Amino acid sequence: MIIDVAVPVRVPRSFHYLIDPETAKTLSLGSLVKVSFRNRPTHAFVLGFPETTDVDQSKLKSVEGVIVASPLFDEKMLKFLTWVSEYYCHPLGEVIAAAIPKQSWTAPKRKPKEESRCVEGLIPVSANRHDLTEEQKIAVAKILDKSDKRPVLLHGVTGSGKTEVYMQVLDSVLQEGRGAIILVPEIALTPQLLGRFSDRFPGQVAILHSDLTPGERFAQWERLRHGTARVVVGARSAIFAPVKNLGLVVVDEEHESSFKQEDSLRYHARDIAIVRAGMEEAKVVLGSATPSLESYSNTLNGRYQYVTLKERVQKRALPTTTFVDLKDTTQLVSAEAPWLSIPLFEKIKKVLGDKQQVLLYLNRLGFAHFLFCHDCGHTWRCKNCDVALTYYRNPPSLRCHYCGAHKAPPSNCEACEGTSLESIGVGTEQVEKTLTELLPNARIARMDRSAIKNRKDLESLLNRIAHREVDIAIGTQMIAKGHDFPGIALVGVLLADASLNLPDFRAQERTFQIITQVSGRAGRAEIAGEVVIQTLNPEHPVLLAASQNRSDDFYKQELDLRKQFLFPPFQRLAM
Ligand code: ADP
Ligand code: ZN
Repeated sequence: MIIDVAVPVRVPRSFHYLIDPETAKTLSLGSLVKVSFRNRPTHAFVLGFPETTDVDQSKLKSVEGVIVASPLFDEKMLKFLTWVSEYYCHPLGEVIAAAIPKQSWTAPKRKPKEESRCVEGLIPVSANRHDLTEEQKIAVAKILDKSDKRPVLLHGVTGSGKTEVYMQVLDSVLQEGRGAIILVPEIALTPQLLGRFSDRFPGQVAILHSDLTPGERFAQWERLRHGTARVVVGARSAIFAPVKNLGLVVVDEEHESSFKQEDSLRYHARDIAIVRAGMEEAKVVLGSATPSLESYSNTLNGRYQYVTLKERVQKRALPTTTFVDLKDTTQLVSAEAPWLSIPLFEKIKKVLGDKQQVLLYLNRLGFAHFLFCHDCGHTWRCKNCDVALTYYRNPPSLRCHYCGAHKAPPSNCEACEGTSLESIGVGTEQVEKTLTELLPNARIARMDRSAIKNRKDLESLLNRIAHREVDIAIGTQMIAKGHDFPGIALVGVLLADASLNLPDFRAQERTFQIITQVSGRAGRAEIAGEVVIQTLNPEHPVLLAASQNRSDDFYKQELDLRKQFLFPPFQRLAM
């Protein structure tokens, strides 16, 4: 008999082998066999048993053995993976290998241990159902409405209770006997969010994120494959999870760029979520306070339904925002810290006096932006990447943020031997140091890629913030994402211009999103929230729209520009 298999190699086609009919009987689509490919043993995914082949049969090799007979994927999943393979021009064998945890085909005989590390109970969460607000009720009803099959964009301001909407929709979906995939950005996969889902749906939720060991990942996968867990909450790769009878796919914070995988199989989890849901007749909900231009424009052209939550729950006010013009040097606390204005500093002190918390956002790591020589103007750049090296003081080093190369900071200029080296620009490390000097009694924590190395660091810091063991949290984007902390009364954006000047056609969109998201961390409980934005451009329309919660204006302006300059969503760009 002939067997058609996909091999994980960079060749865009499947391959035929011979197999004896007795063995073939034990196999099906999705089984895993061993073959010899280019004289090397490799595993191969079974796609089918064709009646004929256009290859000379005497030249076909035989399958060398069976690795896993019981199917790792079914026909529906194969159809989806084939679509992904064709759309992203990536060989099917590699797509399948990327989609299915290695453990299921490398150590299939080992029974998965129920290694589930405790994620609950770290941060106080309430598993209670909330009585929905009127807006939330309308949103749930529209999402569950079977007469309209289009994906729903749920555009809800920060703190409007989108997660509660997802959970009540999920409740109905589960009652119909169907399953669900909840995709969230990696950084949002904290005990806070996981606790909300697993407390509400005990025993039914599988979790997939990048910090699981292969054994843990496999265990979660198997719970889904056998139907013991019917919901997966996970980062982008969870879109491939073997959820049975899929009825719902939620993409939370759908605007997040982390849904795009940028190496090997390059896919966008949000986009393929829509494809998979379409194939399995599941409903899709894309949720965000700051939707991507792509999704927003799909509501204008009628491809998606549009549902909004314009108010925060319990009529909490959105924070009030004031601007500080950093060009006005009379407003600065000192010349050494041109990133700290008197108005912001006064507000920080007031909030600390009231025993509330402060969050400061700066999208720059390290101590300073870069080092330069005052005599000749030389700057230090990465030998591999030709980008400026970032200057760190603790421990002293010059580091490349692209490739990770680092070296000790020089005492002399490498070009002119001069000794007057200066650092320019400010990073989170410097903000931490200066504030510690100015406010010696405040408990200050830093939240960025160099302070937070792994999930454990992140969880313990979020815990300390939740338990009010931190007065001031300083951070990069990491701090802006989805966290729900009731004690944050003040958010300071130290330099709003940094992201506006990135050489990227999405720079304005990203700025709008980050300003809106970071502002949204303020005032999430009884206390009112306040936001101070320090900038060199206090009249910038993007900053104004974000601070005044005029998202419709922003989308209109930005779509006009995209159209004029032939950028997505009006044109496609491919790398
Ligand atoms: P979003 O994701 O839209 O920013 P969340 O879902 O995190 O908002 O909700 C913000 C807070 O409001 C959470 O603490 C949540 O438990 C609470 N919440 C959600 N819906 C309601 C409601 N209908 N009544 C009271 N509290 C609610
Ligand atoms: Zn480099």
